[in-house]
Amino acid sequence: MSSPQIIDHDYDVVVVGAGGAGLRATFGAVAEGLKTACVTKVFPTRSHTVAAQGGVGAALGNMAEDKWEWHMYDTVKGSDWLGDQDAIEYMCREAIPAVHELEHFGVPFSRTEAGTIYQRPFGGHMRNFGEAPVQRACAAADRTGHAILHTLYQQSLRYKAQFFIEYFALDLIMEDGACRGVVAWNLDDGTIHRFRAHATILATGGYGRAYFSCTSAHTCTGDGTGMVARAGLPLQDMEFVQFHPTGIYGAGCLITEGARGEGGYLTNSAGERFMERYAPNAKDLASRDVVSRAMTVEVREGRGVGKGNDHIHLHLEHLGADVLHARLPGITETARIFSGVDATRDPIPVLPTVHYNMGGIPTNYMGEVLDPTEAEPDRVVPGLMAVGECASVSVHGANRLGTNSLLDLVVFGRAAAKRCAQLIQQDTQHRPLPPDSTDRPLARLEQLRTADGSRLTADIRLDLQKAMQSDAAVFRTAESLSDGCAKVDAIARTVADIKIADRSLVFNTDLAEALELDNLIACAKATIHGAEARTESRGAHAREDYPERDDATWMKHSLAWIADDGAVTLGYRPVHTYTLTKDVEYIAPQKRVY
Ligand SMILES: Cc1cc2nc3c(=O)[nH]c(=O)nc-3n(C[C@H](O)[C@H](O)[C@H](O)COP(=O)(O)OP(=O)(O)OC[C@H]3O[C@@H](n4cnc5c(N)ncnc54)[C@H](O)[C@@H]3O)c2cc1C
Repeated sequence: MSSPQIIDHDYDVVVVGAGGAGLRATFGAVAEGLKTACVTKVFPTRSHTVAAQGGVGAALGNMAEDKWEWHMYDTVKGSDWLGDQDAIEYMCREAIPAVHELEHFGVPFSRTEAGTIYQRPFGGHMRNFGEAPVQRACAAADRTGHAILHTLYQQSLRYKAQFFIEYFALDLIMEDGACRGVVAWNLDDGTIHRFRAHATILATGGYGRAYFSCTSAHTCTGDGTGMVARAGLPLQDMEFVQFHPTGIYGAGCLITEGARGEGGYLTNSAGERFMERYAPNAKDLASRDVVSRAMTVEVREGRGVGKGNDHIHLHLEHLGADVLHARLPGITETARIFSGVDATRDPIPVLPTVHYNMGGIPTNYMGEVLDPTEAEPDRVVPGLMAVGECASVSVHGANRLGTNSLLDLVVFGRAAAKRCAQLIQQDTQHRPLPPDSTDRPLARLEQLRTADGSRLTADIRLDLQKAMQSDAAVFRTAESLSDGCAKVDAIARTVADIKIADRSLVFNTDLAEALELDNLIACAKATIHGAEARTESRGAHAREDYPERDDATWMKHSLAWIADDGAVTLGYRPVHTYTLTKDVEYIAPQKRVY
């Protein structure tokens, strides 16, 4: 086959990804007068953001008194003091105008009697610095992400943003430590596109599909994260993987925490509401890592429900069909389809399921990607930004609170667009690209396209997912992690023996999945090696052999570099223990109890 046709494009800004973060950055940059393109491998409204259910967090105070300072306290505590407090201050303060902006853009939020945005309680969101749950999650029934994503796409159309849909971004174009753009493959006709840009914004979402059971879409394969690793830049805090307490047993689909926010509760085989023992104050609304661990302990100690005593019950039936119909229609349907349960009559079988990646591409609160050195831990990579789940700002630290991701998307998507406007002069000429700018990505594409080994992508991926599921789980030990590292490294080597059946470049899903697998492997390596090294328990990273948090040694962000030969090197950078303004004080570490 002759080499593919290469087509060049010049933009001020190129955004990779059209989920909530990518769309907010895209039309934000257009609104700033910048020539902007958005490259996405799926149609924008099919991005995983569409599946978000429960709500977007903001201290609007529509239901009872609330303050952004309380939201900030909860987020710092939720992060188990691994979050950067300057970024957390920025997000929680900006949350209020950001949600009002969404309302004005046209998001059809549910309403209170008074006509204001309806807000429900959510795990870890409390009033008055941890006193009792507060209603902070702004919700459009249980389809908040759907409502937000469609509205943001409509705004993008209104601004006439340019989309390159079903274009698969392969790799960054780097020159002398700066990003000059991105190379993408048009799935529809097999052409290769070289985008030159003054700023490239990655908004490619999480990598839930590195695990066997997860709530995320099949497209959540950490592509931007893999691209950054291949550019020789580090990934941050990858060992922190959130398990959502209520994935449907067997299927893994999500039942939103909003279900417990509306009054749902968990029971074990004795019918006991066991969360009262683990979190006397917040009970079923403790933060996700706490609830997931409690459920895992109940099952382990023989108090699971069902034939195999291997799961937990979530009760919603006492809420009544009217409330379920009005507030939780989507999950009532999901429960019926995926567990055969009528949630108005019977409890739903649930189990903790991988849901969110706290770690990712390190950035500052303006979305700029960092390439830390010991002397300069906040050193910026010129021309490269990251927003949304693929980024580690870090506002979520070791554990994200529900509703803070949809918030992070819009707050930092907007911040990145504003930063572009500060950095980029309109009509700035592009320098020529280095002559070898597409060599590496195209060689990688060609190598995979013609691969004629013996292992199918799907089989290697399944091995990876099973290894991660069993060895980088809710509870971890030195043994499970060192086994896991060995397994994941060995699985990564089997990619050399991959077989691609389809040789074409036109809608070759076999090849696309192999590229995704490559990205998943980079993410998985950083996750499991980072977890093995971190000998403490913090947030979602729970070591049975090191049950306590160790601030003296470990209150620092992990960094993981992945070499071309697959070797992982770890390093660290300090947590920001300062706020952005003098309006709030630094919140010093405390014991985290709910
Ligand atoms: C079931 C579920 C429910 C959730 N509920 C909530 C909730 O109620 N509240 C909350 O705050 N959070 C929730 N979350 C988390 C939140 O929805 C996600 O973290 C967030 O939507 C991620 O948005 P994103 O814009 O970063 O990426 P995504 O929405 O995942 O979009 C990624 C984009 O990147 C593009 N892309 C990826 N790779 C490539 C590539 N190689 N080339 C080109 N394009 C690429 C894709 O096409 C897509 O457009 C939920 C998550 C799940 C899975």
